[in-house]
Amino acid sequence: MERVPYWNISFGLLIDILSLPALAIFGYGIYRHWLRIRQGKANIKLGLTLEALKVGPLYLRSFITRGIVGTRIYKKLFTGVAHGLLFWGMIVLTVGTVLVFANVLFGIPVFRGEFNRLCMGAFLDVAGLAALAGVLFLLIRRLFPPERLTCFKANTGFILMEVGIIAIIVTGFFIEGARIAQNGADPGSFVGNWLAAQLTGGGGLSTIHRYLWWSHGLIALALIAYIPYSPLVHLVLAPANAGLDIPVPGPKMGVVDFEAFEGEGEEETPSLGVSKLADFSRKNLLDISTCLKCGRCHEVCPAAQTGKKLSPKGVMTTLAEYLQQGKMDDESLLDTITTDAIYSCTTCAACMEACPVAVNQPNAILRMRQHLLMERSEMPEIMGQANRSLEARHHPFIGTGFGPNDWRKGLEVPIFEKGKTEYLLWIGCSIAYEERAQHVGRAMVAILKNAGVSFGILEENRCTGDPAKQMGNEFLFTEIAGQNIEEFNELGVTKVITMCPHCFNSFTRHYPLLGAKFEVIPHAVLIRNLIASGAIWLKNSGLAICYHDPCYLGRHNRLFSEPRQVVSSIGKLVEMPRNGCESFCCGAGGGNYWTEEEGTRINQTRAKEALDTGAKTIATACPFCMLMLTDGLKKFTEEQLVKDIAELVCSQMEA
Ligand code: SF4
Ligand code: SF4
Repeated sequence: MERVPYWNISFGLLIDILSLPALAIFGYGIYRHWLRIRQGKANIKLGLTLEALKVGPLYLRSFITRGIVGTRIYKKLFTGVAHGLLFWGMIVLTVGTVLVFANVLFGIPVFRGEFNRLCMGAFLDVAGLAALAGVLFLLIRRLFPPERLTCFKANTGFILMEVGIIAIIVTGFFIEGARIAQNGADPGSFVGNWLAAQLTGGGGLSTIHRYLWWSHGLIALALIAYIPYSPLVHLVLAPANAGLDIPVPGPKMGVVDFEAFEGEGEEETPSLGVSKLADFSRKNLLDISTCLKCGRCHEVCPAAQTGKKLSPKGVMTTLAEYLQQGKMDDESLLDTITTDAIYSCTTCAACMEACPVAVNQPNAILRMRQHLLMERSEMPEIMGQANRSLEARHHPFIGTGFGPNDWRKGLEVPIFEKGKTEYLLWIGCSIAYEERAQHVGRAMVAILKNAGVSFGILEENRCTGDPAKQMGNEFLFTEIAGQNIEEFNELGVTKVITMCPHCFNSFTRHYPLLGAKFEVIPHAVLIRNLIASGAIWLKNSGLAICYHDPCYLGRHNRLFSEPRQVVSSIGKLVEMPRNGCESFCCGAGGGNYWTEEEGTRINQTRAKEALDTGAKTIATACPFCMLMLTDGLKKFTEEQLVKDIAELVCSQMEA
C-alpha cells in the first residue's frame, strides 16, 4: 500500500503553518547577529580589496570548501567523521521532509515504486542512523571533553542542541515503526520495519504514533527557531565567514592609509589600531561571532603550548564576551586581554590553519598590537629596544658590532647596475647583522656565481621594515618601505631574490599596496629551479636531513615542496611529526626574536622535535628560523646541526 502522509494525524498542516513563526524567529536571530556585526568598520582599507575582487572564484571556493563542506573539520579524524555524519545525515533528512511537503502540497508522487523504496525508505533510514551516530559521538565528547574544549570557556550550549537532535531522530524512527506496525511493511525502510516488529500495543500504538508525530514536529520547529541563539548558528555564520575570507593565506594585515588620518577639519582624530570592539572591521566581528570555542587553535598555538599568556581561543572568547555584552566602546579590552598576550603572538598562522570556521585570530591580535605601540607606546622592553634601533639605524639588531656590508668582507659581490643586472639579491637585516646568518648570504653569492645568474646587491644594505610591521609599528614600516621602493624605482629593479621569507612576504604582500612593482623569488624556489635546469650540479650525500618549514614560507605562502626538492637533491629528506602546513613555529615571528620568553622556550621545543628525528642535519630556509633553532639546540647538544638550504647546496656543489 502506498504511504499516506499525515496518516493518523488530524490537522497535520498545522505543523506547516507553525513553521512560519519558527522561521521568523530564526530570521530575527540572524538579523540580531548582523546588527552586532555591522557596528564594525566597513571602510578599513585592507588594500587587498581590488586584488581580491579579481579572484572572486576563490571566495566561492572558500565558501564551498571551508564553509559548506567544512574541509578543515576533518583534520581531526573522529570529530570530523562524526560531524560529517551528523551534518550530511541531517541534510538528507531535511530534503526528505521537504519531499513529504511537496507530496502533501503539490501531489508530487514521492511514495511510489523504486524512488519510495530506495530514497524515501532505505536512504532516509541510513541518513537517520548516520546522523544519530554522529550526534551521539559529539554529545559524549561534550560530556567528557578534552582540555581544548574546556579551557577559557566551554561552549555548553551545544549539549542542549545535541539532545534536541537526538530527540528528533529517535522520535522520527519510532513514528515510522508505529506507522508500519499498523499499516504493514514499508519497502526499503529497514529501521522502521525492524522497529515495527518489536512494537506491540494494538490501538495504543496509534495514540503513541500521534503523540510522537506532534513531539517530533514541534521539537524540530523549536530547534530551527533556536539555532541563531545557540552555538549551532555556525551553520549560517561559518559559510559566511569562509566566503568573505580574502583568498590569500596569512593574517591579511594590508597596510594603513595614513593619509586618511590627516584630513583637515576632522572633528575627532581616529585612533590607530584597535583599542575597543568598535575599532574592529566587520570581518573581525564576524570572526568573533563565528568562533565555536572548539580550542583547536589553542592546541596548535606555540605561545599557548609553551606557557605564555596568549591563547588564540582565550582572545576570541574575551572578544566574544565583550561583543555579547554590547561593550563596543569599552576601552578596558586591551587590559583584559593583556599586553603580554598581545605581544606573545609569533604570527605563525597555525591557529588559522587549524580553525574549522575560517577565523583570522592573528589579524585581531595584530590590530590590537598596532594600538599598543602606535597610540600607547607599550611593548615588551627588548622589543622596544629593537623598535628604537629600527627607527634610529633602520635595522632591529640591538648591540650588533657589524656594519651593513661586513657580511661580504673578502668576497667579490657585484653591485646592482641599472639596465645591466637582472636580479637584485636582497640581503636584509638578519644576514647583515647576525654573524651566523652571514654565512647564508655568502653561500647564496657562491651559488648564483656558479650558476651564472646575473645578480647584484645594493651598495648600502637595509631592512625591509617587516619587523616594524610585525611589532605593530605600521608608521615606521610604511616609511622604510617607501624609501626602499623609491630606491628600487631609481635603480630600475624588476626582479628580487630574497633569502628571508619575512622579506619575501613583505615584498609580495605589503609593498605592492604601497606602489611597488617588481617580481620576487625566494631563494628556495630559485635554487630549486637552478637544480632542475641543470645550472648547478650537486653531490647527493644520501645522509638524513630534517627540514623545518619557516611559517612565512610554508603556511603564509604555501611553499612546501620547493625547499623539500632542494633537500632531496643533496640528502635524504626526513620529516618531523609536525610538518608542512602543520609545522610548529621556531618562535621568532611577530618580532618575538627580540623578547624574553616566559615558560618553555618555543625554539627549544622545536629543536628537540627536530633532534628526535635522528637526523644529523637540520635544514631550513629562513635566517631567523636558523638562528632560533641553533640557539634552541644548545640545550641538548653542542653540535652545530642547523643549516640553511643555501649553505647545504653550496657545500654539495660541483664546480
Ligand atoms: S598566529 Fe601563531 S602565535 Fe599567534 S595566536 Fe595564532 S597560533 Fe598563536
Ligand atoms: S578561533 Fe577557530 S579554532 Fe579557535 S576556538 Fe574559535 S572556532 Fe575554534
